[in-house]
Amino acid sequence: MSKSGLLLGEEIAGVNQILPHKHQFAWDLFLKGVANNWSPSEINMGDDIDQWKNGSLSKDEKLLVKRCLGFFAGSESLVGNNLLLTVARWVTDPECRQYVLRQAYEESLHNWTVVTCCDSFGLKVSEVYEAYLNIPSIKAKDDFLMEIRNLVSYYIVCEGTFFFSGFAMLLALGRQNKLPGLSDQIRYTLRDESLHIQFGTYLINTLKEQYPSVWTKKFEEETVEHVKKAVELEIAYAHDVLPRGILGLNADMFVDYMQYIGNRRLEGIGIDFRFESDENPFPWLSEVVDTGAMTNFFERKVKDYQNSGVLDDDF
Ligand code: MN
Ligand code: FE
Repeated sequence: MSKSGLLLGEEIAGVNQILPHKHQFAWDLFLKGVANNWSPSEINMGDDIDQWKNGSLSKDEKLLVKRCLGFFAGSESLVGNNLLLTVARWVTDPECRQYVLRQAYEESLHNWTVVTCCDSFGLKVSEVYEAYLNIPSIKAKDDFLMEIRNLVSYYIVCEGTFFFSGFAMLLALGRQNKLPGLSDQIRYTLRDESLHIQFGTYLINTLKEQYPSVWTKKFEEETVEHVKKAVELEIAYAHDVLPRGILGLNADMFVDYMQYIGNRRLEGIGIDFRFESDENPFPWLSEVVDTGAMTNFFERKVKDYQNSGVLDDDF
């Protein structure tokens, strides 16, 4: 039982006493997550399968899909592992654990999305599930995530930064009515991830307050270094995914985008460092991705999609 209201340090395997609430924020995010119920099996992939097989997608567009799924296949599983092996072990606060249980379920859905796409398009395991071994820029990102495994890095670097390039790339297809089913899967995933980042940001800021001795200048500097390294790895990855400009995207735009997103994440956890480029090169994505807009978006739309399994959003 958590009596102290501290996030860490209670008995690891004891009873979790959820009431009275001590971290209402985590409880509220749990409810928001549940209101966003969806499952990959509810999304019609028929048009996607037609488009994939009838030649309406270019070779470069297919490469983009395979590389994005290749990264998600490895990294979504790493996020799940980090939740189970690290976050759930150390974060003993009952409401935070309740949120982590929900998040872990959502990560399992994201894994399922990748499986659904592999099945629908008949993709090779070696190109998607073994991309973390076969594609150097994806291997570099996954190796980095495994090396820096900690709570801050996963919420800020992996979910908060790396995932957003993939979302932008896949939603750029959807914008041109290409792979509409995959696009819907990504929009649902993006909503989940937006809540994960809100939770992670809350968790980190609360840990900072409760354990000031851990949040040293050195730790802050390391965190900045991690985000810088993430931006660097993203550049190589963007070149692999987009060898030529397509869909109004090119690799250089992702350098700007990663710096812009990195700045937002660092701002969220009260770190002063900022990258030079602070403009979002994808204004069309801003309503979907911007954390502030996303919150409004959730509030505006929550009734429409609560348990409905249908996306009717207008972004
Ligand atoms: Mn996920
Ligand atoms: Fe997540």
